[in-house]
Amino acid sequence: MKLIPLPAFSDNYIWLLQHEGLALVVDPGESAPVSKWLKENKHQLDCILVTHHHGDHTGGVAALQSEWGVKVYGPSQESLPFEYTPLKQGAIFAWSHLVFQTLDVPGHTAGHIAYWAHPTHQDPLLFCGDTLFSGGCGRLFEGTAAQMLKSLTQLAALPGNTRVCCAHEYTLSNLKFAKAVEPANLSLQKYIAHCEHLRAQNLPTLPAKLANELQINPFLRTRQASVIEAVKKFAPQSSSKEVDIFANLRQWKNEYK
Ligand SMILES: [Zn+2]
Repeated sequence: MKLIPLPAFSDNYIWLLQHEGLALVVDPGESAPVSKWLKENKHQLDCILVTHHHGDHTGGVAALQSEWGVKVYGPSQESLPFEYTPLKQGAIFAWSHLVFQTLDVPGHTAGHIAYWAHPTHQDPLLFCGDTLFSGGCGRLFEGTAAQMLKSLTQLAALPGNTRVCCAHEYTLSNLKFAKAVEPANLSLQKYIAHCEHLRAQNLPTLPAKLANELQINPFLRTRQASVIEAVKKFAPQSSSKEVDIFANLRQWKNEYK
């Protein structure tokens, strides 16, 4: 089973899984990159997964659905403008030889879901939309800091070898902020050099490895003394409660240039 990031818009990825002539895509915000790939690689579209209702994740679904008549899965707590099977925490479904598990990860949007699966003889896959990014997390458009922290804590507990398939190439700009939070973090410094090298060749920095994110992503490190100390410098009024540290860290990132 092969995993392919299809670039879309200016910095989105539509993730595609291919297996024996069939393809599954995640969050096709536009149909053209998917149709082009299917034609060039002589594959049939077989399934679409949607993580949340934003247009840059859903805009291509209706066209692909009418062309291919495929099954679409999406969040039960959001309404999407096409026919789909609604899923929530704990729902399980199969595609090819994969069994996908659904996780509720509200915060970026109110009903955001993520998909996790473990292909045989390969590292697990996480399709998490705009919840977890490499080095960062999604903006809180509809949810609270407490919800997002809980969602990220759930994702952080997945196996460390999980391949994190984020929906945007935001890594370098996230890492610039991460370095402002933890300038002495050596894993972070190494990862920045690695990602700069990839981007210089126009290669994706994704998927990210979850175990590495735990070492470098400040939004997964809000119990680390270094992160708490940095946040308290930005927001001296913050309590030491993890949710307050998280909320102020998110606010700091919103303002960071
Ligand atoms: Zn979004």
